[in-house]
Amino acid sequence: MPDTDRPFLPFALPDIGEAEIAEVVGTLRSGWVTTGPKAARFERDFAAFLGDESLHCIAVNSATAGLHLAAEAVGLGPGDEVITTTHTFTATAEVVRYLGADVKLVDIDPATLNIDVSAIAAAITPRTKAIMPVHYAGLAADMDAVHALARRHGLKVIEDAAHALPTTCGGRLVGTLPSEATVFSFYANKTITTGEGGMLVTRDAALAARAKVMRLHGMNRDAFDRFTAKVPSWYYEIVAPGYKYNLTDIAAALGLQQLKRAEAFRARREAIAAAYDAAFGPASGLPLITPPRARPGDVHAWHLYVLRLADDAPIDRDTLIERLYAAGIGCSVHYVPLHQHPYWRDRYSLEPGQFPHSQHAYERMLSIPLFSRMSDGDVERVIAAVRGAVASAAP
Ligand SMILES: *Cc1c(COP(=O)(O)O)cnc(C)c1O
Repeated sequence: MPDTDRPFLPFALPDIGEAEIAEVVGTLRSGWVTTGPKAARFERDFAAFLGDESLHCIAVNSATAGLHLAAEAVGLGPGDEVITTTHTFTATAEVVRYLGADVKLVDIDPATLNIDVSAIAAAITPRTKAIMPVHYAGLAADMDAVHALARRHGLKVIEDAAHALPTTCGGRLVGTLPSEATVFSFYANKTITTGEGGMLVTRDAALAARAKVMRLHGMNRDAFDRFTAKVPSWYYEIVAPGYKYNLTDIAAALGLQQLKRAEAFRARREAIAAAYDAAFGPASGLPLITPPRARPGDVHAWHLYVLRLADDAPIDRDTLIERLYAAGIGCSVHYVPLHQHPYWRDRYSLEPGQFPHSQHAYERMLSIPLFSRMSDGDVERVIAAVRGAVASAAP
């Protein structure tokens, strides 16, 4: 049983303040609860946050929806292949299968836990159409190398930026890089939240137009608005079998206020990560590997703090998680790699030996609590519990 003296400390909690609550209540009182003025403002504010108002930002009801729309809009279909990392959440890859295209999973760089660009290069075939890098934990993937490879082979790049608000890569914010599309998540445990939600960001006007149409049933008003001066407000045309992926104004209301706090949230998470680094880093003498830092001058979003046990640690990962749970501390694992899940394993006949770095990291990793509402006392409690669990296991 967990430590009952103190409340259970989960591995993540949303940080919702009075401003968010007031904005949602105002939306409820306004009479407009589905997609409307707040969703439109959230899209504009998001472009402003990324520092480039020429970006098309398309609010959706999940990052999965945004990834699906991006993949559809770049034209993925049966016969196409998309290369992504095995070390991700299934949403990254599943959207490729929605469209009948196939997924080529590749291994990670053991230092960064991000997709290994040399493995991408080795996986390219004449059928390859796109690359989907993930900025794992909030650390940018090597996007210069990904874009160079994409240019050389004529491939589309769709960034899964579910962890990456805000992250920089070579000094530029993720969302502003020269990819076809970048998709952020506002799921409950992400760096800002709308409960459920996401944002598709693109510079490509045609891609944006297609994604907007497909976001809402394949409904098109813009196309005829341009040619017909007088279209009655009730009239619309369906131009494709679209989806129902729009973000409600209730959710957008949360997003408007969360976005204002995104930088403060990040600073707090970074401070907690620095405290963990100091406690668990090489100087601690503990058999732990702390997460990679961003390159000098770059920003890490610190969505996750992923600790790894060293090969010679006297305790295994599952036991460590059990001990932390008994101490009243919640942890998680990001991720059970895709190659190990029955669907992906069986569809592509995958074996752990094809992904040695992901497999090795997975078996030794745990994500410890990291969220802006943690107090300094919470951080000290996690540090003491990890130290205690590892030390008590020492021979
Ligand atoms: C959370 C997450 C998603 C999916 O986000 P939703 O908004 O829940 O659809 C996709 N990819 C990664 C890497 C994630 O962590």
